[in-house]
Amino acid sequence: MSQTSPVGRPLRPRGKLLQEDARRHHRSLLLQQLFREGPASRADLARTTGLTRVTVSDLVGELVADGLVRELGAPAESRVGKPPTLVGLDADSTHVIGLDLSATDRMTGAVVNLAGIVQARHELPLDGATGAAAVALVHRLATELIAMTDRPVLGVGVGSPGVVDAAGTVIDAPNLSWTDTPLAASLADALGLPVFVANDANTAVLGEHTFGASGDGGLMVLRVGIGVGAGLVLEGSLLHGHLGAAGEIGHVVVDPDGERCACGRTGCLETILAVPHLRRRLAGRAAAEVLTTVGKQLGAALAPVVGTLNLHELVLSGPQELLDGPLREAADRTIRERTMPVSSAGLVVRTSTLGEDVVLVGAAVLVLSGQLGVS
Ligand SMILES: [Zn+2]
Repeated sequence: MSQTSPVGRPLRPRGKLLQEDARRHHRSLLLQQLFREGPASRADLARTTGLTRVTVSDLVGELVADGLVRELGAPAESRVGKPPTLVGLDADSTHVIGLDLSATDRMTGAVVNLAGIVQARHELPLDGATGAAAVALVHRLATELIAMTDRPVLGVGVGSPGVVDAAGTVIDAPNLSWTDTPLAASLADALGLPVFVANDANTAVLGEHTFGASGDGGLMVLRVGIGVGAGLVLEGSLLHGHLGAAGEIGHVVVDPDGERCACGRTGCLETILAVPHLRRRLAGRAAAEVLTTVGKQLGAALAPVVGTLNLHELVLSGPQELLDGPLREAADRTIRERTMPVSSAGLVVRTSTLGEDVVLVGAAVLVLSGQLGVS
């Protein structure tokens, strides 16, 4: 009876949908395994993913046909019996466009392959563009980058300053005068490609987590630039927070008698640590002394976070010459002085192995994760 009913969703397509979901999930499992662990035989893939060998063979065939996975032949060492054929991700089968909008004077972008390696770079000067003009600049940068690769483009990832919602709408980015700006939707419309937009610190932590030298424990990347913000990956997942503003430690007051901050409060972490403030403090003064003082203040602000979350890695991302030295050492020391050994004994405080590419590479991870289910 329900089959002839004109209303409601018939049962069969519903079952088919569930099957499609399962298939997508299984496909992601295989890609994730190849992405994380490198080439494997079909039998290995079945063992590590728990899928049947029939399902694995079927899906690998599909991935090979799509060009994402390649037959690599047998491993070099000869074994008794017929050696298994290895399959692996074809890193250059398709490319991803990553954009970093966090600089104050330019927008940068790159063509990135599936292994997170930058293939080509491009940038456009901002020239004070804000609002719609800044959006137009993002469109132009993405279009010009797409023209720089001869491979199919899987999608576009964007690390933007400000608070960004799950749909890729920039809720508030004061430097670019963006308020409720649907950046992902407008780019997707214009380019006809999937587009993912996230806050630049969240983008950076995904880059470090996936392609940096990160371990499997809790990771916090503190971005120090024109502003200060953090991204956190805990238990393998990006932390969003209740309203998507997790990691906004830059506007926590650390010195109530300090300088007025752009946000209206006084003595935010940003007023001592953001690059313009830091450079001003350094002018004409003993660098090591200034950097040590700022490092202590940073450590004091981060100790409660480390104590609460029992982080494994704290990564400082920004100008290496400012961050990697007395500032990092003082922050590291202060965190340990102010937390129990069990909280900080395993903590590593370091700078990013990806350097200034961390947001670009992270923007590519947004696409890999959104389109292939890998990260
Ligand atoms: Zn502030």
